[in-house]
Amino acid sequence: MDLVGLTKEKLWSEIMAGLLEVVNKDAIATWFEPLRPISLDDGTLVLGAPNQFFIEWISEYYSNPLTRILSKPEFSKLKIDFKVEKDGFENIAEEVDEIIEASTTTSPIKFNGNGPLDGSRLLPRYNFDNFIIGESNRFAFAAARAVSDAPARVYNPLFIYGGVGLGKTHLLHAIGNHLKKVNPKIKIYYTPAEQLFLDLIQSIQERNTMLFNNKYRNLDLLLLDDIHYLKGKERLQEDVFHLFNHLQNMGKQIVFTSDRPPKEIPTLEERLVSRLVSGLVCDLKPPDIETRIAILNNKSKIDGISVAPEIIFFIAENIKTNIRELEGALIRVSGYASLTNTPLTLETCKQVLSDLQINKEPPKPVKIIETAANYYNVTLEQLQSKERTATLVLARQVAMYLLRAFGGMSLKEIGAYFGGKDHSTVIHAIVKITDLKKQDSSLSQDIHKITMLISGG
Ligand code: ADP
Ligand code: MG
Repeated sequence: MDLVGLTKEKLWSEIMAGLLEVVNKDAIATWFEPLRPISLDDGTLVLGAPNQFFIEWISEYYSNPLTRILSKPEFSKLKIDFKVEKDGFENIAEEVDEIIEASTTTSPIKFNGNGPLDGSRLLPRYNFDNFIIGESNRFAFAAARAVSDAPARVYNPLFIYGGVGLGKTHLLHAIGNHLKKVNPKIKIYYTPAEQLFLDLIQSIQERNTMLFNNKYRNLDLLLLDDIHYLKGKERLQEDVFHLFNHLQNMGKQIVFTSDRPPKEIPTLEERLVSRLVSGLVCDLKPPDIETRIAILNNKSKIDGISVAPEIIFFIAENIKTNIRELEGALIRVSGYASLTNTPLTLETCKQVLSDLQINKEPPKPVKIIETAANYYNVTLEQLQSKERTATLVLARQVAMYLLRAFGGMSLKEIGAYFGGKDHSTVIHAIVKITDLKKQDSSLSQDIHKITMLISGG
């Protein structure tokens, strides 16, 4: 069949038909049906997704089947690109967005959502435009900008270090995203040091160093995150050293990050240390209050949540050392207000944040599940069984939703509480309840009551 001349809708439905043969129906319903063909230009079909999370997820778990289908002759050279398209999706987008955090911290990031699946693993949401500059990060930001304007010409390597949640990973991706925009052909690879380690192990096990070398030695820009991971791993250090020599000799740029300066990484070989400090070493410090406020304002703008200035100020005053936690507090406060249908006042905010600080542990998952089971008059065993009466299905989905809403748990962990259900079942439940809750006020009240029971004692 010749697909040339088809409309974007027709083309997408052909691809969906192909996917149906290789991907299970639940996954199609969860991940592919929400996508909309937006445009078809120059052999690229652009699909709109409800949020970044969808794009990352599809790319992580379904890029193989997609690639396989697109390689069929009738799709000659068709490329697929994704774009976040909020219109029409608002009701599910909000809370699913929160899941990004959980999923990216539990599984290595494997995606470049900027364009076709080119394997650079850059996350478009980490860019220079949304990086807030303050005294604490001005130097590192300027160095990152300089490197992305003149790779391998100014500071090579660039070494950025700083504590957890201060923007190291963000800056790495920003360098990559910027360079890629300027020069789409440039070969970039972002990887946590841990992944490089796994690749190395694999190449040793398979006695095939070609794969490893092909993957890492032909790059124009290597973005190597969290290299304190090299601590105590001599073989890995050795290989990084050689890789680094090679790339530098070829005039290629490397950027490293670490939680501390090179000299303070124990057991790091002297010659590697001296290599790492031979370019520019700069640090990220904890942000001052003005920067924290600016970050919160920016984040609420990006997420489309309106939060009163005194609340922003309160959060900024109370969370000082970790930008991820700073943003997490904002999400948590606004999530709590929407979950319980209460207006977001300073009082609520104080309460939620004091929970966050005094009692950092979220409620135990067992407690959440038990409360939901009691509320729906079913037993814990029934809830965790495979039985599928209407009440049980609803109770189970609500319990999954609450496990997620109360924070902390990954999709995988939630699935494990329900007899090892897979990610897509869990996310399907969360999306469904999020959606239903907006239309069905009695469900929304039920959830409010259960929430109160869980947090009440
Ligand atoms: P690290 O890698 O140092 O642990 P990340 O780069 O993952 O930290 O940053 C944690 C979170 O804080 C991310 O969501 C990131 O976008 C955000 N962030 C960090 N620094 C800034 C900044 N200066 N402006 C805006 N957001 C920031
Ligand atoms: Mg990081």
